[in-house]
Amino acid sequence: MNIAFYSTKPYDRLWFEPMSHQYDIKIHFLESPLKESSIPLASGCEAICIFVNDAVTAGMIDQLCRLGVKAILLRSAGYNHVDLDAARGRIHVLRVPSYSPDAVAEYAMAMLLTVNRYTHRAYTRTRDFNMSINGLMGQTLFGRTAGIIGTGKIGQSMIRICKGFGMNVLAYDPYPNPSLDVTYTDRDALFAQSDIISLHCPLTDDTHYLINQQAISQMKDGVYLINTSRGALIDTAALIEGLADKKFAGVGLDVYEEEDGVFYEDRSNDIINDENLIRLAAFPNVLITSHMGFFTREAMEAIASVTLENAAAFANGRELVNEL
Ligand code: NAD
Repeated sequence: MNIAFYSTKPYDRLWFEPMSHQYDIKIHFLESPLKESSIPLASGCEAICIFVNDAVTAGMIDQLCRLGVKAILLRSAGYNHVDLDAARGRIHVLRVPSYSPDAVAEYAMAMLLTVNRYTHRAYTRTRDFNMSINGLMGQTLFGRTAGIIGTGKIGQSMIRICKGFGMNVLAYDPYPNPSLDVTYTDRDALFAQSDIISLHCPLTDDTHYLINQQAISQMKDGVYLINTSRGALIDTAALIEGLADKKFAGVGLDVYEEEDGVFYEDRSNDIINDENLIRLAAFPNVLITSHMGFFTREAMEAIASVTLENAAAFANGRELVNEL
């Protein structure tokens, strides 16, 4: 089986190359992201393999089908970047439903600790022997209330971590899990009562711009907001307005609604034209990282092994347990 592997980075090869030899699979590593113009590179391949910012539109599915591609292998759990309605019955779409929920939850807590205690700023100061701690005062998290939106795999891990810090935890999920030791509440109450809000729900029509001007106005002054899920859960313009009004003590963003084409790339020598991203980066209490919550050895290994298992199941006509 031949797979065209889009958006390849050196760390992808590290895991996929050796593991692919255990299967009858040939991977064609391509640095290019998936675009209409790069689809012909998949000629002769039965499947393509893509990452979170490789958007697949209905038109691209037509193109892939014409080329003879029969499966799209997602190296991710999230699938909001694929037009599943257009794919249904025409091309198989397989994902990695869970690779390391703890990796993402641990990262969400790392973001909270960083924006709260300014360790990133202290690091640069002390390297320059500026030992002043002015402006670096944070808050003790013990006894604070964390509001977790989405209590799936990552949300549950985040709940455990927050409890470990001695926080009270509120949760919102349209499908509450009765086996969880957590206080479920509605979205409005969570916004109003939380000192920290962490987003762990998928991007759907219902969650698009979940954090908008109205939601922000319901939040406590001095709230912390952490988003490790998907950028478009937050209306960036409303967030910037809230930040300018000093609503937030700190904001951690591992995802951004316009991240496509910027995240995962070295753009340090380019002129960045995204005014919202520039504005966000200029706030001293905002930490932006490049969609890397998943990025641990364990998660990378799991992504490679499940993706190749998905490919092998497709190639051998076995049941497609991870089909969307
Ligand atoms: P999951 O499917 O296990 O859990 C998602 C939860 O969200 C479910 O309990 C679901 O009921 C709930 N939900 C659905 N609609 C909701 C709504 N309207 N409001 C609140 N909750 C809602 O998924 P997961 O593995 O925990 O992953 C969560 C998200 O994290 C993914 O969708 C993905 O976008 C993101 N993610 C980010 C990274 C990263 O590197 N930053 C890595 C993996 C996943």
